[in-house]
Amino acid sequence: MSGRVRGAHHAEEPDLYVASMLYWLRVYVESLFVPWFPVACARCGAEGGSPCPSCRQDFTPAHVLDDIDNLDAVIGLVVYDEVSRPFIADLKYRGRWATARTFAPALAVLLEECIGHEGRCLTLTWAPTTPERARQRGFDQAEVIAREVGRQAGRPVRKLLERGPGDQQTGRSRLERARGVSFHPLFEAAGTVIVFDDVVTTGATLSAAAHALRSAGAEAVVGITLAATPERPNG
Ligand SMILES: [Zn+2]
Repeated sequence: MSGRVRGAHHAEEPDLYVASMLYWLRVYVESLFVPWFPVACARCGAEGGSPCPSCRQDFTPAHVLDDIDNLDAVIGLVVYDEVSRPFIADLKYRGRWATARTFAPALAVLLEECIGHEGRCLTLTWAPTTPERARQRGFDQAEVIAREVGRQAGRPVRKLLERGPGDQQTGRSRLERARGVSFHPLFEAAGTVIVFDDVVTTGATLSAAAHALRSAGAEAVVGITLAATPERPNG
């Protein structure tokens, strides 16, 4: 990839504000309905939040992955297994934003722990899904997670990356994924960039995102995900 930030993108800045405004409008409208339609747990169906207090106790805390190219570390909140899978699917395919909001406080704590003293020059962003997917679903689950965590942590979130067209993650082999994922920086980056995503499996998506962020000037890149596969294949 070229690695150069295209100056013309500065003209797109107002669109980003509109996107952010639309996001919060949707969150606000949805919040109006929550008291009248209690959220059922995506795993067990119990009312009282998704995940419900009982299912929350079944999560296995995930670990730090420190061997993914271009990334200083990737930190998952919970292991991607039969316990967490229904909640990720709920967020990803059904747009249940309540899930992102339930996990956001814990992710915000992870964020503060992992940045430590590096908070001085920090940008929060996300690894965007494909434009086709975002259009189909009407939202980008990685953006939802990033914005909810940013709100919890009281830190601004900025769209720094654009995804290359045409690649679709689900249903492709690991090798195809590794080849197909590409990102382009929209703006210059500096200091430490935290990049959010829903799940880390092979690390190919976050690695490609980190590559683009470094080419735009990021000195350190840390990935934070809601879930991480328990045993990640090498490569
Ligand atoms: Zn439950």
